[in-house]
Amino acid sequence: MKTTILGYPRIGSHRELKKACEAFWDKKINEEDLLKTALDLKTRNWLQQQESGIDLIPSNDFSLYDQVLDTCLMVGCIPERYKYIPKENTLELYFAMARGLQKEGIDVTAMEMTKWFDTNYHYIVPEFEKKQTFNYFSKKVIKEYKEALAIGIETKPVLIGPVTFLLLGKEKEEGFQRLDLLDKLLPVYLEIIQELTDLGVEYIQFDEPCLALNLGNNERQAITTTYQTIHRQFPKLKIFLANYFDCYGDNLETALQLPVDTLHLDLVRCQLQLDDILNSEHFNKNTKLSLGVVDGRNIWKNDFEASLKTIEKALTKVPFENICISSSCSLLHTPYDLDLETNLKFDIKQWLAFAKQKLEEINTIKNLCLPENDAYLPLYEENKLANLNRKTSKLIHNNEVKNRVLKLTEADSHRESNFSIRQAKQKNALNLPLYPTTTIGSFPQTKEVRNWRLKHKKGQLSQEDYDNLIAKEIEDSIRFQEDIGLDVLVHGEFERNDMVEYFGERLNGFAFSDFGWVQSYGSRCVKPPILFGDVSRENRMTVKWSEYAQSLTEKPLKGMLTGPVTILQWSFVRNDQPRQATCNQIALAIRDEVVDLEKHGLKIIQIDEPAIREGLPLRKEAWAEYLNWAVKAFRISASGVKDETQIHTHMCYSEFNDIIASIADMDADVITIETSRSEMELLEAFVNFNYPNEIGPGVYDIHSPRVPSLQEIENLLLKAKQVLPKEHIWVNPDCGLKTRDWPETKQALENIVKAAKKLRQQE
Ligand code: GLN
Ligand code: ZN
Repeated sequence: MKTTILGYPRIGSHRELKKACEAFWDKKINEEDLLKTALDLKTRNWLQQQESGIDLIPSNDFSLYDQVLDTCLMVGCIPERYKYIPKENTLELYFAMARGLQKEGIDVTAMEMTKWFDTNYHYIVPEFEKKQTFNYFSKKVIKEYKEALAIGIETKPVLIGPVTFLLLGKEKEEGFQRLDLLDKLLPVYLEIIQELTDLGVEYIQFDEPCLALNLGNNERQAITTTYQTIHRQFPKLKIFLANYFDCYGDNLETALQLPVDTLHLDLVRCQLQLDDILNSEHFNKNTKLSLGVVDGRNIWKNDFEASLKTIEKALTKVPFENICISSSCSLLHTPYDLDLETNLKFDIKQWLAFAKQKLEEINTIKNLCLPENDAYLPLYEENKLANLNRKTSKLIHNNEVKNRVLKLTEADSHRESNFSIRQAKQKNALNLPLYPTTTIGSFPQTKEVRNWRLKHKKGQLSQEDYDNLIAKEIEDSIRFQEDIGLDVLVHGEFERNDMVEYFGERLNGFAFSDFGWVQSYGSRCVKPPILFGDVSRENRMTVKWSEYAQSLTEKPLKGMLTGPVTILQWSFVRNDQPRQATCNQIALAIRDEVVDLEKHGLKIIQIDEPAIREGLPLRKEAWAEYLNWAVKAFRISASGVKDETQIHTHMCYSEFNDIIASIADMDADVITIETSRSEMELLEAFVNFNYPNEIGPGVYDIHSPRVPSLQEIENLLLKAKQVLPKEHIWVNPDCGLKTRDWPETKQALENIVKAAKKLRQQE
């Protein structure tokens, strides 16, 4: 029996890689310094794994920016626009592809980025053209193998499999299908494998998480061709095939017939597939199984008892030496080291395991399977106790909350009247002009504002002084909004660090780590709150500032909340109950806040749900169930108010086509979305569906410092007017303005208001 993991976090326990990369980009350190930091991190990771008893230690799981971008360079998939960057300067080319480059005579945009399956990690999207060729360009995988070898560790190099690589990319022109490029891509992989096997590599891990998706026959055929070809050419190579984030599903039969040495299973996401495999007629008894029992996506301690049961089951059909204990997926998605957390309550800490602790868990589980396991029995008992404690802890379990969820009725997820009745009542109550103007919530979070919060947190600024500064900032922003003539105002969110953390800090059931960073993309990291227990709201969370802001103006002010699905999606959530149950608890807490805002005079309340789409399961057959409970949770949060109160929601992404019915089902009175970059193309989904409620298609791309001209905004609005009933149209930016500076914000918003006024005059 062996142990392995599919990959390790690479950002560094203290985000050393982030700091080094950013210093390098700012020209504060040179290439040599950066590469030295990188080697240090890799070395520490390898030694850590060795020390923890991991047998098959991965290499090439490290990356300076992103593993898909690394693969692009490995196979020479470099878009045409980078051709003016000298290829010898690999690092400059690499970061130009990641982030764009502007310098003497060169001005190239970055490659696109998108979410890695259903995680919050973003990868660089490969670009393919019709005449695409590949060549063995970057030798990073060789270099890393040798680096590990130099400290005496024979690693298992990790490669993104060719089929997943192609499927993750985008065709940049018409007239071909990217999968057809396999014929050209595979020879490059073979060249690389040749060089690796020449060095004595025994195992190569091929990541093919596309096997967790709905695939067609030609895609499955591509998988078969790929691994048959590799095996034919390298019969001695041990192919470790990794699928994760979901079952093999319909692709199982294909997977089972591949000539691979080891097949990896994500047994956290999908328990049942083990039975399917063991009972399948296609299961080759010589195939080794990598049992991914330790969760690579979450921060909870493993349940040894349950893991051992799973392994026992496998052992009924698979010989002992053919089993490998592993992480469900790469540990990239978990923070580094729980030992660094000195401020977490012991009670909570004892339920957790970060990446380093997960290595130890994997080793312990293996040792518990050995006949001579006495030394490990205390660890088993300790684990059992901690998990038992979690099942009964008063910190987690709050019967009042559980009962409230149980007692939810159908009526709780419905507004009193249907939209048309509400719309009429709201028109009366709010008296807004045609094409009302508003913003999405946040205004620029200047260095100053961030500094106040930091000082306040450190105790260098009293609550009173901090509050006074925030109050003044809110007042200024209200005056500004009135001056330029916006119709529905916001308070600006100056008091908020982050739209989920702010609420997490005020709700029961959440804990926060000090160093629990995970990579989001490149040098960007996030520190998700730890949602460990039943969620309840003890005190009002936002009423004070919203009420204050409303008191400063005659215009309607929009209360501003984060929705239940987004809070769920952007936290580490509990695994001891279904996500749906947790989501309903959050929904009730938000509902209480919504009702309170109404009680305190707010006539409009926005509940942001930017994360609804990313919660979609990987396989389409699971979508309906998810959308059903996610939409319901939103409605629970929104339905406690009277008809006259207008509920807004906001989503900042693009693809609505396949979920538009559910978006409509959320029944928000107004939805604001991101459309400016796509020239209103995205509205199509809403138009084709005959979206029934009001809608604010964004007219200002807030991701860019560029100020849109009056003319541009007008053009966008005219487009919207052609396809939507004019009584339904709102005028607003794509998203919140917190990352922008004031000067451009002011100009852009002025133009927005002017454009709306012009449109009204034309009526
Ligand atoms: N209200 C939030 C803001 O304006 C919305 C942010 C988001 O959609 N991501 O910042
Ligand atoms: Zn947004």
